[in-house]
Amino acid sequence: MKNNKTGPWSPEDSAALYGIRDWGAGFFDVNQKGEVVVKVPDVKGESTVSLMEIVAGLEKRGHVMPLLLRIENLLDMSLSRLNETFRRAIAEREYQGEYRGVFPIKVNQQCHVIEELTACGARYGHGFEAGSKAELMIALAHLQTDGLLILNGSKDREFIELGLWADKLGCRCFFVIESPNELPLLVERSRALGIRPLIGARVKVSARVGGLWTETSGDRSSFGLSTAQLIELVDTLRQEEMLDCLQLLHCHLGSQIPSLADIRAGVGEACRFYAGLVAEGAPMGYLDLGGGLAVDYMGVQTVHVHSRNYSLADYCETIVETVAMTLDPLGIAHPHLVTESGRATVAYSSLLLFNVLDVMRYQPVSLPRQLDDPAPEPLQRLFEMYQHPAHLDPEDFHVEAMACRDRVRELFRTGEVGLRQRSQAENLFLAVAGTLIAHLPAGKELSSGLAALKLSLSDIYYGNFSVFQSLPDTWAIDQVFPVMPLHRHTERPDREASFSDLTCDCDGKLDRFFVQGREQDTLPVHALQDGEEYLLGVFLMGAYQETLGDLHNLFGDTHVASVRINADGDFDVMKEINGDTIGEVLEMVEYRADQLFEIFRERAEQGVRSGRISVRERQLMVEEYAASLRGYTYYER
Ligand code: PLP
Repeated sequence: MKNNKTGPWSPEDSAALYGIRDWGAGFFDVNQKGEVVVKVPDVKGESTVSLMEIVAGLEKRGHVMPLLLRIENLLDMSLSRLNETFRRAIAEREYQGEYRGVFPIKVNQQCHVIEELTACGARYGHGFEAGSKAELMIALAHLQTDGLLILNGSKDREFIELGLWADKLGCRCFFVIESPNELPLLVERSRALGIRPLIGARVKVSARVGGLWTETSGDRSSFGLSTAQLIELVDTLRQEEMLDCLQLLHCHLGSQIPSLADIRAGVGEACRFYAGLVAEGAPMGYLDLGGGLAVDYMGVQTVHVHSRNYSLADYCETIVETVAMTLDPLGIAHPHLVTESGRATVAYSSLLLFNVLDVMRYQPVSLPRQLDDPAPEPLQRLFEMYQHPAHLDPEDFHVEAMACRDRVRELFRTGEVGLRQRSQAENLFLAVAGTLIAHLPAGKELSSGLAALKLSLSDIYYGNFSVFQSLPDTWAIDQVFPVMPLHRHTERPDREASFSDLTCDCDGKLDRFFVQGREQDTLPVHALQDGEEYLLGVFLMGAYQETLGDLHNLFGDTHVASVRINADGDFDVMKEINGDTIGEVLEMVEYRADQLFEIFRERAEQGVRSGRISVRERQLMVEEYAASLRGYTYYER
């Protein structure tokens, strides 16, 4: 990578600067025309398409920026890679169980994504994980018979009954017990419907993992049973003569786990819990290790929170190896391995494309040839620095230049300096600071003062997007995504910019980037050209971003009540608004409630035809499904 600031520039230089070959997982690159391309394997080997061509094609069809681009092939490829890599690791280790992956619907619930994953997942028996009633309704309409369905989260009566019906229709539906209070209702409803449930126990492992989600593991994590509660669960199941239902151990260490050693430690501990349950007499058979497979957003293969120090093959081999090594000496049969990889399955498939509407530049508007008398001393000093920049040492002079500018601002506030002189001081400061920054030696680590000065002089590009709508994690949890221009990679990107979005909110910005494998506050960009759109992409954002914000897990608006307190200490209810129904939130993520109902009705009908259920049971489950579509998205007692 060239670090001199002049000379020719090639797409290779851009590829190295933005790290596209490091975070792109082989899916993205830059072509000789200087455009970002997406690469997908096909029968002939590989197809490569420029994102600019895709944009042009979409524009001809009437679509304008900003645009969320989903590349279906990348969903298929990610899902296939995950399954194939586990299969290889299993075959190589002569592991006795199978890999039975599930997709956690909360990571991307959009109808088209789920449909694509369903179609591609059919080859591998890839199932779903649902954490809410609305997600369960999606799974019920899409999951194939004999597909694995993992039910996490708080489960009310409706949730449990729908899950039991799914079981009856032939899905392997596991109710994962996360809290001791969940069991009585499950026992009661399964007895009432005469269906023996498959039960999983979610445990808290004490091994802590690094990364942004360390709190998901450890004693204080909100989810899962403590060891004491696990034993209580076993005892209750035995008393209820239902210990044979306990067949799955669940543990989710956290999302985006950067270190393979942490994964190995967590899996090892989970295996000890598994072995303990076998010793207690539970039949077991499934080990669900939750999510956590990280995405290398930075492309540096380290334990940085936005990276990972392992490959997909390392991940799969470590899990297979650790489980076999822990259970073999105990003579315990290898369980089927379940993972709930969400991020790694969908991150690559979506990118946000946006154009730049305007730019704010921090450079002088005009500069004085000479100063009018009398000029205050700090203004004169700025003028001198501007006239004789050659011998200015950046380290000393940037402090002095800033002090002079600030002094002029003070004099302006006290009325000793007028508008024009303040304007001259601001322009001169920008000229001096710009010269100092331009002459810094390339590639040298900057002092904090100079780094702050450099940042204060960078451009602000006004992007046509909303952080809150499209990239909520950048605002909420400081997630950093790879960002780069889609074109002009035959030209040197010689401006540095951060991005402000269209919202009138100071948090509506993109100001953390990966450049040459390092995190920094500005992105190298090209100067805008008159009459030409400047287009950028935010990559690897298919996980969590599309519905996170106010629809996480598809919990919709709550009911609203407005009351007015009266002088007599009583109150009147002035307004009542019903919260979203499950059908309504599903429509927000592009499903049609009537179509979902129809798919489920047809599935139930098939259940009757195949003799799995009676006509009466069909009627009950279809009514329950319809009622759930009209029901509240939250837990109902
Ligand atoms: N399973 C559970 C229970 C989760 O809470 C999560 C996310 O936090 C996932 C799976 C998905 O994790 P990831 O996106 O890291 O694969």
